[in-house]
Amino acid sequence: MGDKSVDEVDSYTHVGVTLYACVDQDRFNSISNRGKGMLASLAGVGVRFDGLNPIYSAILWDKMCIPSLLYGCEVWYNLSGRDILKLERLQRFAGRLVQGFHILTHCEIVIALLGWFSMIGRIRKAKLSFLYKLIYTNSMCLVKHMFIFRLAQYEVKAVHKMQGFIPEIHEILEYYNLHNFIVNYNDTRFFPSKIVWKSIAKESVLLNENQMYVYGMSSKTVENIAVTAHPNIGISNLYSSMKRMPHSRAQISRLVKLLSISEGLSVICSMCRDVVSNLPIHLFIYCVELNDVRNAMWDELIDILGVTLSVILGNKLDVDLVAKFLGANWELEDEGVFDKVVSTVAKYYGHVYELCLKADDDNNIISNDSDDSDA
Ligand SMILES: [Zn+2]
Repeated sequence: MGDKSVDEVDSYTHVGVTLYACVDQDRFNSISNRGKGMLASLAGVGVRFDGLNPIYSAILWDKMCIPSLLYGCEVWYNLSGRDILKLERLQRFAGRLVQGFHILTHCEIVIALLGWFSMIGRIRKAKLSFLYKLIYTNSMCLVKHMFIFRLAQYEVKAVHKMQGFIPEIHEILEYYNLHNFIVNYNDTRFFPSKIVWKSIAKESVLLNENQMYVYGMSSKTVENIAVTAHPNIGISNLYSSMKRMPHSRAQISRLVKLLSISEGLSVICSMCRDVVSNLPIHLFIYCVELNDVRNAMWDELIDILGVTLSVILGNKLDVDLVAKFLGANWELEDEGVFDKVVSTVAKYYGHVYELCLKADDDNNIISNDSDDSDA
């Protein structure tokens, strides 16, 4: 730069911590092991199934583990699909641990119920924030000079196969349809303020994560209870309800597990031995072995909701009705009524998942997402 030479390095030690740009396999293995170690320590303070409410476990993962695991990810480049999968598996492992989900649960629902972004989404979001920081760095700093220089090099394609932050951020901006911001910055040196950019970046990543979640779930199932009950990434209504009603905690945390049951392909109901195409719908509406449970539940629901609302509820489509039982929004009722309904449904159906699991170890009733079997 100018009359000084600037050496490029693959690693740099900043306040005692070494940052790596090109992260190799060994380092990813060590990140993965470190994550599992952190989870093991957090298990001691309740970050596990039947421990803390998953809302708090999710916060601890976000605030304590993620910053450490993804430290310096703004400058990582050339991540392979395998590296990313390793990180995603680690997060799903954490999600299953705190929710007590089966190892083969659909991976999308595991993190969506906790309001987590995928790891690649988190990395991309960090890079978008880093872009803002670079743009607003004092123009006297060498870093800023380097940034402007590399940006110009990229624009005129002066370097063959450029690597590092600049080509990566261009890719990310294009991926989220935000490329016009960098084009505009190149032309006019204008860039949105911190608050505006933060919200643009967050909303773009969230929109994409939601699309990936819905797409991922719909590619596996036909009538999707999980997505109907929980249409957007965010803390599940059931966990919020659990927070307000700690006495129903154990039953609600088991009710949530019904969201993780496979839908789509025909399976055999472990209780009545019928072949069914959508197990949650079958269990809540049709299974003859659960007639008594269902009737008792409806008696209580009619007391809570009144006859008119119960009839409206009963007339809903199967998918919508079961989704309501599993946390879908209740537009008409207040929080208190929602909580009463949830605790009633959980009282009668909280144990059903475990009944299925016990009666049917070899009948393949749980989800068929097998890419995580080694997580
Ligand atoms: Zn059945």
